[in-house]
Amino acid sequence: MIKANEKNKIVEQFKAYLKAHNMRCTPTRLRILDFCTIINPPILFKDLAERAKKERICTQTIYDTINLLVDADIIQRITLQGKIKEAYSLTTDTRNKAKIICTRCGRVAEFKDLTITDRLLSHRYNNFNMAYYTITVYGHCKVCRKLLGETIKDGWSDDHRK
Ligand SMILES: [Zn+2]
Repeated sequence: MIKANEKNKIVEQFKAYLKAHNMRCTPTRLRILDFCTIINPPILFKDLAERAKKERICTQTIYDTINLLVDADIIQRITLQGKIKEAYSLTTDTRNKAKIICTRCGRVAEFKDLTITDRLLSHRYNNFNMAYYTITVYGHCKVCRKLLGETIKDGWSDDHRK
């Protein structure tokens, strides 16, 4: 779930993208975007399909709209258990933040690390002007590591993000 003002920004971003590409802003396309903002991350294709089915939106329309949303930089494909293309997360809320995704259960967490930002800004990148960055870190969360029988050392608890 995201805040109302963030959602409005995303809707406007999508409308602008459709207009720029001479595509119609249909209620169905907006509805699928709506699903993406309602579903707790990760946004799984099957969850989108389930919601869409109830509203008689066909699978092809979901595929097409997802591709548009990825292209418009509103959602990004994420990898879960080595499978790409089936899971997504909103990109806008992770700008200049790093996202941690558990590839086993799909749990998503975020952290902001100013040293990463400083480091990126200190580079020149061939005169490229950085507008923002996104970082996605994949691995296993604490709960999954316990289930997998791994030993958890304290000191790298959820508090490390503060
Ligand atoms: Zn997990």
